Amino acid sequence: MKSIEIKEVTKLYGRQKALDNVSFDIGKGEVVGLLGPNGAGKSTLMKVITSFITPSSGTVFINGTDVLEDDLTTSAQIGYLPENNPLYPDMYISEYLSFVLKMYNTSFNTKSRVEEMIELTGLTPERHKKIGALSKGYRQRVGLAQALIHDPEILILDEPTSGLDPNQLVEIRNIIAELGKEKTIIFSTHIMQEVEAVCDRVVIIHKGKLVADDHTSNLWKIAGTGNYYEVEFKEEVDVTMLSGLPFIINVKLQEKGVWLLEAEKEHDIREAIFNFATEKKLHILSLSQTEQSMEDVFHSLTA
Ligand code: ADP
Ligand code: MG
Repeated sequence: MKSIEIKEVTKLYGRQKALDNVSFDIGKGEVVGLLGPNGAGKSTLMKVITSFITPSSGTVFINGTDVLEDDLTTSAQIGYLPENNPLYPDMYISEYLSFVLKMYNTSFNTKSRVEEMIELTGLTPERHKKIGALSKGYRQRVGLAQALIHDPEILILDEPTSGLDPNQLVEIRNIIAELGKEKTIIFSTHIMQEVEAVCDRVVIIHKGKLVADDHTSNLWKIAGTGNYYEVEFKEEVDVTMLSGLPFIINVKLQEKGVWLLEAEKEHDIREAIFNFATEKKLHILSLSQTEQSMEDVFHSLTA
């Protein structure tokens, strides 16, 4: 059973394509990480799914209903945490949550439902404060509470952990992981480790295009072909010599004396690098294994 079907969605802002013919489906109960660098089109896609904006072309179905035909039905099934989580700073937490709940046509008792959400999202210690007086981490909890209050089966969370300190980040991630046991979730981020921690599946977009869609366990395999070694030699070294190292995929001079070597993932070539240096009478000043930067990853995915 498909919760969300995204069919050939394109969104133009003037001449700029924020989304370029994006199609994919999300099954009931899946937790999908929407990964991409800033400006990739993540927020735009989420706004199309939640019918906050209209695509230039293409369609989104929520449990079989076209969001453009019947957004009242579809938005009742979706909880949305927008980026920058706009809230009313002068409202008290429970006042705000009651206000949000009343916008939906539900059979919940307002008071007890609000209490339940405050409990669930860990807002209890701060519950008597106005929203404006809360720290960023607690504001995100209010954002999650308002997204959950009408008990939607789908959650669309736009960078819910951005700007949080490491403790808050772990707590919010845990809440999301817990919610993921019951709900269908799309969660956007530009942090690969976060996708790995929270999601089953990863969809990567770059410059408005879908460039990868796979199980999270394949994330590093999709992202990079190899392992990276940064090695600094005292002497000048010829590029062809380094290219002769075993399992080498790529060799790049970073700065004077410092080389970035990419090798096949299954092989650790550190020992081979030392042997190479001894053989050629070279001195290694430093050697470290490094990861590709996010930008490199997205670049290699679209190359
Ligand atoms: P992301 O959330 O992945 O950072 P966005 O969906 O916010 O990306 O933006 C995708 C692209 O569309 C960006 O280049 C952004 O500048 C552009 N964009 C987003 N919203 C608007 C808008 N309202 N008007 C014009 N351009 C926009
Ligand atoms: Mg965004």
